[in-house]
Amino acid sequence: MPRLSEVIAALDALWPPERAEQWDAVGTVCGDPDAEVLRVLLAVDPVQEIADEAVELGAQLIITHHPLYLRGTTTVAAGHFKGRVVHTLIKNDIALHVAHTNADSADPGVSDALAGALDLRVVRPLIPDASDPAGRRGLGRICELDHPETLGEFARRAAERLPATAQGVRLAGDPDALVRTVAVSGGSGDSLFDAVRAAGVDAFLTADLRHHPVSEATQRSPLGLVDAAHWATEWPWCELAAAQLDEISDRQGWNLRVHVSRTVTDPWSSRFSSPGAPN
Ligand SMILES: [Zn+2]
Repeated sequence: MPRLSEVIAALDALWPPERAEQWDAVGTVCGDPDAEVLRVLLAVDPVQEIADEAVELGAQLIITHHPLYLRGTTTVAAGHFKGRVVHTLIKNDIALHVAHTNADSADPGVSDALAGALDLRVVRPLIPDASDPAGRRGLGRICELDHPETLGEFARRAAERLPATAQGVRLAGDPDALVRTVAVSGGSGDSLFDAVRAAGVDAFLTADLRHHPVSEATQRSPLGLVDAAHWATEWPWCELAAAQLDEISDRQGWNLRVHVSRTVTDPWSSRFSSPGAPN
């Protein structure tokens, strides 16, 4: 059985922490480097349900995409909801490791997994990482469709292929417009509009889009916008990361048991369509 420090070294090779954005907080949140690791749980959010799931599973390590403490803290008291997560983990000898923007920009990364879930052919990053001479790392991905389809068909496919959430998938633009090229970005994507426009794609699949950026983008050009739940756009990365870790485990003879959480941790829990609203 590998020690946590050995598994973390392998994770750091997949998603080097120095490639995270300056504002980010990635790496190991808690865990004993000398502890042995057999079961690993992958999830998007380090919330209490996931900590409880890891206890139930008998996992020694949780790998999440989102940080537990993005802006630091002065307390891990169990009376606070994040402190309770820390207590649950430490009491049960479970480590927590975060790969956030370093997993976004990795090759393959979060947006490759999103593209893969929809069978899109990745052409290049939307915003390439200047430090990668191969031009494969970076934020978002520009993709081609093997067969052109309408924006409505594309959005429907996103709804079918991504895990189910209360939000489902929203669309802005002409559902009958033809889509040949798309930009995809797992997680909040509305800071990427300039790059998406510059790429000249037919549609943009992302999450957390807001009224004004969407209104302006659709007024300005025929760009189709497909907005899925934040959690759903990043969840495919858990499966990708699990496959990567399985492969490392096989190569190293570690015999790790790698699990992907199917718990929906998107915070939006219900949705009510307005009577008479367009569908
Ligand atoms: Zn995210």
